[in-house]
Amino acid sequence: MNGQVVVVGGGLAGAKTVEGLRERGYDGRVVLFGAETERPYERPPLSKGYLQGGDERDSAFVHAAGWYADHDVDLRLGATVTAIDLAAHDVLDGSRTRTGWDHLVLATGSEPRRLDVPGAGLTGVVHLRTLDDSDRLRAQLSASPRVVVIGGGWIGLEVAAAARAAGCTVSVLVRDPQPLLRALGPELAAMFADLHRENGVDLRTRTEVSEIVAAGDGTRVGAVELADGTLIDADLVVVGIGAAPRVDLARSVGLHVEDGVVVDAHLRSSHPHVLAVGDIARAQHPFLGTHVRVEHWANALNQPSTAAATVVGADEPYDRLPYFFTDQFDLGMEYVGYVGSHGYDEVVVRGDLQNRELVAFWRRDGRVLAGMNVNVWDVVDDVQALIRSRAVVDHDRLADPDVPLADLV
Ligand code: NAP
Repeated sequence: MNGQVVVVGGGLAGAKTVEGLRERGYDGRVVLFGAETERPYERPPLSKGYLQGGDERDSAFVHAAGWYADHDVDLRLGATVTAIDLAAHDVLDGSRTRTGWDHLVLATGSEPRRLDVPGAGLTGVVHLRTLDDSDRLRAQLSASPRVVVIGGGWIGLEVAAAARAAGCTVSVLVRDPQPLLRALGPELAAMFADLHRENGVDLRTRTEVSEIVAAGDGTRVGAVELADGTLIDADLVVVGIGAAPRVDLARSVGLHVEDGVVVDAHLRSSHPHVLAVGDIARAQHPFLGTHVRVEHWANALNQPSTAAATVVGADEPYDRLPYFFTDQFDLGMEYVGYVGSHGYDEVVVRGDLQNRELVAFWRRDGRVLAGMNVNVWDVVDDVQALIRSRAVVDHDRLADPDVPLADLV
């Protein structure tokens, strides 16, 4: 086989790409560039188990330290690719070294969106993206009695739960009428709002932050000011207002980029030897019949196997349904499926919404588009089968926990 693959991005998607190549018998050179000095790690523990102190730091790493050498992967950490040359088939890194490739896989991930208000640069205003961030945040939570979280998405709510577990008073400031509104819609977003309020979180919706106000010394955060003039005292402010795909490299060489690098179902970009995986990939999805970009762990975990298949010449389109999970307080959930831009007609709940033990289904024209199991386990395969069947399902049977999901397909 031989040849050379360069993978740009040392996160989960990059690490799984090089693993996939070796698993598929690729015997050429493999170079993996990671901008951080840590070897590739997974992010879910950073805002969940590791942040709360339950998981060991080591459990976050994708591979043991020796795995890369053992598999003849040239892992270059602390090395940022600064330019791609499509004509010469090479990349340039920060030390002005050129590295050639036959296939280039972009796995550059996302970066946190920054808050654009006065005071956003004060000490004590933090983001959570990297393992270093999580290390620092763990220490900061135990030393910060009053925490303000800006943003009611996944980071915001998971950090709020961790901060409550650490004994902090916590305010969560949400711009929308509900947290997670865009992700879940109002029906199930309300459940998360109740969960947080019942666990002592001061959840404020329809709030706009106008300024982060310094404490007496002028350098550290002291309070968060809202647009209506309200001041909320804070020792620590965690900003979780979304992430943006890192597509500058792809764009700089004229690859087709919209909201992410546009790739086909085999993860090939507009250049047939340049692929994209993970957060940045806006991939044609055979089942969904549209391009989707998914900023979740499972996508970074699974797409690389398809990228590796494409590199070795196998025909394996990426067809998994989007999947994600969360753990907050005593709530654990998994979500599978994709509602998409056409939206849904209704949410059907099977189980007990009040006690947060249920499976919720998002439906359009009687068909299930997505499902979320909350404190109910071992149903994801059945929910996926239901979605893939495209069956028109009777509302009452869908809502009835006594009807096995498998009988609805
Ligand atoms: P997110 O889940 O996209 O949520 C960001 C939230 O911030 C949204 O509710 C958004 O509202 C709001 N927002 C945007 N701009 C704002 C502003 N200027 N002021 C106030 N609120 C603003 O992003 P995240 O929580 O920051 O997480 C970052 C990435 O990590 C995401 O890709 C996320 O999916 C991923 N992640 C996933 C998990 C999980 O799957 N369990 C856990 C942690 C992180 P609008 O929707 O109205 O714009």
